[in-house]
Amino acid sequence: MTSAKAEGKILIVGAGLSGAVIGRQLAQEGYQITIVDSRDHIGGNCHTERDADSGVMVHVYGPHIFHTDDEEVWNYVNEFETFMPYKNRVKTTSKGQVFSLPVNLHTINQFFGKTMRPDEARAFITEEQADTTITDPQTFEEQAMRFVGKDLYEAFFKGYTMKQWGCHPSELPASILKRLPVRFNYDDNYFFHKFQGMPENGYTVMIERMLDCPGITVQLNTTFTQDMAEGYDHVFYAGPLDGYFDYKLGRLGYRTLDFERFTYEGDYQGCAVMNYGEVDVPFTRITEHKHFAPWESHEGSVCYREFSRAAEPEDIPYYPIRQVKEKALLSEYVELANSTNGVTFVGRLGTYRYLDMDVTIREALDTARGFVAAKQSNGTVPAFFSNPT
Ligand code: FAD
Ligand code: UDP
Repeated sequence: MTSAKAEGKILIVGAGLSGAVIGRQLAQEGYQITIVDSRDHIGGNCHTERDADSGVMVHVYGPHIFHTDDEEVWNYVNEFETFMPYKNRVKTTSKGQVFSLPVNLHTINQFFGKTMRPDEARAFITEEQADTTITDPQTFEEQAMRFVGKDLYEAFFKGYTMKQWGCHPSELPASILKRLPVRFNYDDNYFFHKFQGMPENGYTVMIERMLDCPGITVQLNTTFTQDMAEGYDHVFYAGPLDGYFDYKLGRLGYRTLDFERFTYEGDYQGCAVMNYGEVDVPFTRITEHKHFAPWESHEGSVCYREFSRAAEPEDIPYYPIRQVKEKALLSEYVELANSTNGVTFVGRLGTYRYLDMDVTIREALDTARGFVAAKQSNGTVPAFFSNPT
């Protein structure tokens, strides 16, 4: 960014990662920033807080693991908080046994009762399990059948995905499963990114430090209404895109999550995340939060049983559904947004996309830079700096 100080008042809706990064970057440019959030805390869905009884750092809206290949983003988060080494090692319970995820050589050998070496396992999956007649998988189911085959698909993915998304995997895009690797070695790291870690004191402390900057004012318990925009030069909106327009074209579909919290004295499951692959177990996974901070030691434990269902209007929208119907409605909202001046839609809800934290930060940095450049050249500020459709 440039060193020339800009003048102007900016309203940001949402004190999650998107709002905090854009606010910080523009405050450093000289803008006066007001950030409103309807919740009583900052941090959005990344919010973490310590449980008063056990001292465990709880990921209040579900487990968040930081992973990225983007070195600038990694350096950026490390400016605000120390990241402790953390590798996400997920287990799954299916058919009365516990297996390792993502599907790796251990999973394959254990599942099929074999002792194959990498090349043997690869040949076994490719020649005896995978459906190689599928050349260009389009759906989740096709992707699974093509790369792991029916047996592993039915044990680990079919039931879990029906619970998670509320529909058959043949109705979902292949891209959802492409998030997960399949490995023919014993590497059980859930992610494949170069940089991975967990903030030592939680995400909320990191975001608090981002917001601790001259020129930024945060107002919690404040829900955005259109009249609030008066007197501001521009609005960055990290709330739901359809909500900005009062849902006048209809509601974009989301999955929401219910967390059934329980406590335990000792170690409940021995790992941070235990998935449940079968459809007749009603929850998708159990997270035991103290295992997200292996450098800490706590006797007590806080766990979440996680249930997924279709979001009703009063629920927290978690996962955008983005099937054909939703994408058609999204296009209509995008058109409406593009014809609206003075507001830029950002983040997971504002652009109706599933965004990991690193992508959220990357887009927020690019948005702040794009805004400053547009202002300097007297250009118009677009409704989106990334394409949501
Ligand atoms: P949010 O965090 O949703 O923040 C939006 C904020 O806007 C909220 O605080 C909300 O209260 C506020 N708001 C909305 N509407 C209004 C309004 N009208 N007025 C005022 N305020 C309003 N990413 C990873 O990288 N790793 C993970 O392991 C990971 N796990 C996840 C697990 C779950 C269950 C979920 C749902 C997401 C996960 N993510 C993960 C993604 C991560 O949560 C997002 O990348 C990040 O939260 C996006 O930040 P945001 O600011 O765009 O949105
Ligand atoms: N998935 C599955 N079984 C598992 C874990 C994941 O079927 O044990 C599917 C599920 O549909 C999920 C997708 O793979 O949405 C991507 O997995 P990821 O862990 O990235 O899920 P998310 O972060 O979206 O919850």
